[in-house]
Amino acid sequence: MCSQADSAIARHIPKQNALDHFAHIRTCIGRKRPVIFLDYDGTLSPIVKEPDRAFMKDGMRDVLQRLSTTYTTAIVTGRSTEKIYQFVKLDDVYYAGSHGFEISGPVSQPISCRVADEFRPLLEESKAYLEAAISTIDGAMIEDNKYALSVHYRNVRPDQVESVRAAVSAHLETQPALCLKHGKKVFELRPRVEWNKGSAVLWILQALGLNQCKDDIFPLYLGDDITDEDAFIALRQEHPENGAAILVRESGDEERKAETNAEYVLRNPDEVLVFLERLVEVQNEHNAAGGAAAAAAAAAAAVVTDVNEVAVDVEIKEPSAGGVGADAGSTAGAGAGLDADASANTGTAVGVAVSAVDLMRDGAHVAKKVKVSDEVHPTSNEQHQAV
Ligand SMILES: [Mg+2]
Repeated sequence: MCSQADSAIARHIPKQNALDHFAHIRTCIGRKRPVIFLDYDGTLSPIVKEPDRAFMKDGMRDVLQRLSTTYTTAIVTGRSTEKIYQFVKLDDVYYAGSHGFEISGPVSQPISCRVADEFRPLLEESKAYLEAAISTIDGAMIEDNKYALSVHYRNVRPDQVESVRAAVSAHLETQPALCLKHGKKVFELRPRVEWNKGSAVLWILQALGLNQCKDDIFPLYLGDDITDEDAFIALRQEHPENGAAILVRESGDEERKAETNAEYVLRNPDEVLVFLERLVEVQNEHNAAGGAAAAAAAAAAAVVTDVNEVAVDVEIKEPSAGGVGADAGSTAGAGAGLDADASANTGTAVGVAVSAVDLMRDGAHVAKKVKVSDEVHPTSNEQHQAV
């Protein structure tokens, strides 16, 4: 079995654009940690006539770089791992090449997986055979993606596409260890192994220990091809409560059916770029809120310090009260009063400090909490206003 994409899970045609509904997605993410999975061709780069020239547009690499240093970010593609790295050239990204048959992590998380090493000699033989078989068909070409062969016919005259299909089919009849997938203007020969992009995504989550904290993560998968359906399905099955699948498809695109297992659509890599920018902003918002919370915590800690200073004053005053005969009673009483206030304020301040830490990611709530402490401890107003 090459794919689960044709399984019985009902498909539909999503009408919700992920940018139009970003506020809802943002709400669903909440404080969960996004884990980003991205197809390459047609998702991060435009589909082009020459596969070797499928470069990302300006800005995409920059946002990917920021994304990958912010969240776990993986590119899941039919290209070989080596080839996709040459396109992307980012070291913090996880790469799942050859439809997930080969996975490698960054230096900081050097996970590694090879599913079908033993198929490599067969694929090399198949490549040589098919190159000869299609050599007379103008525009037909074979791309060696290490654990998959991509037979491209985008540049083949329509009346000759059937000849390409016939050559591929004839070869597959003699090679039952391989199976066929049909992508965008490409026939793909893959090892007949129960493994696909969905398997790769789940493997990465497992390898990183993220499957053990399903409630804490929010997997997102963006892809344009039929092979991405395997990942949409796998994530929905394994993470039914969290996550979002996004089909990248231009309305009216005849190379890709509109029916999908994804919940949202984006129209093209340009919209993907904007979507990824907004995802980075989510973390920036968290950081800003965390900064506000940290400042609030510092302010709250300063309140505690102030209170301690008051307590020190009380300790100084108490012996002096005993030493002043006529005023001893009233001064001692004042000291006792201060002591009582100090205790009350200490309790409030500690409460604020704890709340501030608890609400590190919610600056608005922290600010509200700190304002409460303003009322009970006006001497710290300057610090609180700074928050
Ligand atoms: Mg694609």
